[in-house]
Amino acid sequence: MVAKKTYDVLIIGGGPAGYVAAIRCAQLGFNTGCVERWVSDKKKPALGGTCLNVGCIPSKALLDSSHHFEFLQKECGAHGIEAEATIDVAKMMARKDKIVSGLTQGIAGLFKKNKVDWLQGSACFKDPKTVVVTNTSGQEDEVGASHFIIASGSVPIELGSAKIDSGHIVDSSGALSLKEIPKRACVIGAGVIGLELGSVWRRLGTDVTVLEASPNFLPTTDLSISKEALKIFKRQGLDIKLGAKVLSAGSHEKHVEVKYQIAESEKIENFDKVIVAVGRRANTSDLGLDKVAISTDERGFIKVDDLCRTSVENIYAIGDCVRGPMLAHKASEEGVSVAEHLAGQKSHIDFNNVPWVIYTWPEIAWVGKNEQQLTQESRAFKSGVFPFLASGRAHAMGDNQGFVKVIADANTDSILGVHIIGANASELIAEAVLAMEFGASAEDLARTIHGHPTLSESLHEAALAVDSRAIHF
Ligand code: FAD
Ligand code: NAD
Repeated sequence: MVAKKTYDVLIIGGGPAGYVAAIRCAQLGFNTGCVERWVSDKKKPALGGTCLNVGCIPSKALLDSSHHFEFLQKECGAHGIEAEATIDVAKMMARKDKIVSGLTQGIAGLFKKNKVDWLQGSACFKDPKTVVVTNTSGQEDEVGASHFIIASGSVPIELGSAKIDSGHIVDSSGALSLKEIPKRACVIGAGVIGLELGSVWRRLGTDVTVLEASPNFLPTTDLSISKEALKIFKRQGLDIKLGAKVLSAGSHEKHVEVKYQIAESEKIENFDKVIVAVGRRANTSDLGLDKVAISTDERGFIKVDDLCRTSVENIYAIGDCVRGPMLAHKASEEGVSVAEHLAGQKSHIDFNNVPWVIYTWPEIAWVGKNEQQLTQESRAFKSGVFPFLASGRAHAMGDNQGFVKVIADANTDSILGVHIIGANASELIAEAVLAMEFGASAEDLARTIHGHPTLSESLHEAALAVDSRAIHF
């Protein structure tokens, strides 16, 4: 085996961390390669990683389809629209698959445009300057590079008590490809995936029970948001059980028997499907990290510093396989940052300004710190809240649930966090992220003119409310 190709930068993984890093490296003049082994259900090699193939994009496609269905079924009457809605699951899935394949092919096109080589196969380190790439036919090629960027992503955490069987018990990928609407489904884990995919199937008519081990609901969100969300999701029909410990899940021919413990008592219930969504772990076990003396922590995350440097000088790691939130936009930003660092530019990511979004309806979005964190840090803060119930646009849309909360430093007035639950929170949060990135104060937001009638006026009013001078509430 002779080293056939050598690159300035070789990236392992073509998800949102790796493919963005590759494009930026190529833009900066590096001779760049990206090793990606993903093969789609249709046996086609694909770029885009978890995000495009089985994550962000397919889940949002199904969330949008199911949202339209629920609107037609339950809400359009209020607009004077009479409709009888039926759902064709195969067509909905085909639409999702088409979106995924279009976007993954788009990345292959961007690679061509930017002259990034896509090496189809699996990479494993031989030494700090060489990886062995094994393609689907088992052929091995050595590839050399001056710098490596590991972007190998994450995989679902498995549960010993509910093993994935690709039939009745599925993980998030399986839940994105169900062939029919289950009558009863059990979602294990009330985290981001559990709530998004639980919402998809509930909207389509499934009776969904969510078993969450923790006694707290969405503990990383501001307490006022998690309280409101729990109330709304329960009202929508998600049967969320907190403090529920799954003891076993056994597949039978037509159902799964789930045994769980809640408040000291044991329960047994039957479901058509069980969706396991208890978190994800770093995908780092088969990279040959021992060959380059790179260590991982107890959850498999590669240890890196703020600039994503590992303990080996020419090897960087980014995205889900390193510390920090498992979010596509965080992964991509790290990719850009490493590429620019390699080019000798100053790069910096403020992890405090990474937005979070949960694409339920209403949506939940936040940036910065929540009240619990600030209280724990003994930081003096003031907050302003504005409910969508007082927003003209929210009424016009027929979507007036939720509120906006702006938290600012009690002394300097600088914005410390913005928390939103409501329609289009995913888009509204962008203004708050920008404000925080520019070090804005609540007063700055309060003095910014917002179009009328828009949902963004609620952010404006929440900023005014920080100084107890909201106009419409
Ligand atoms: P990945 O996307 O996991 O990509 C890693 C790639 O590396 C994979 O393609 C893998 O095949 C490849 N790879 C690994 N090892 C090797 C190797 N040895 N050789 C070659 N290739 C290798 N995030 C959001 O921000 N917004 C969302 O709405 C959102 N929704 C999600 C919904 C679901 C159902 C899931 C599961 C995740 C969602 N996420 C979302 C999280 C998001 O998908 C991840 O944070 C993101 O994909 C991480 O990007 P990455 O490039 O680090 O890893
Ligand atoms: P998560 O960490 O968000 O939630 C997992 C939940 O499962 C937690 O509430 C946890 O307490 C619970 N849990 C753990 N073990 C359990 C058990 N044995 N029984 C019952 N409950 C148990 O993880 P996830 O929902 O699997 O998502 C993984 C990652 O993917 C997230 O960290 C998120 O960053 C990313 N993601 C993001 C988005 C988005 O940005 N909209 C969407 C989906 C996924």
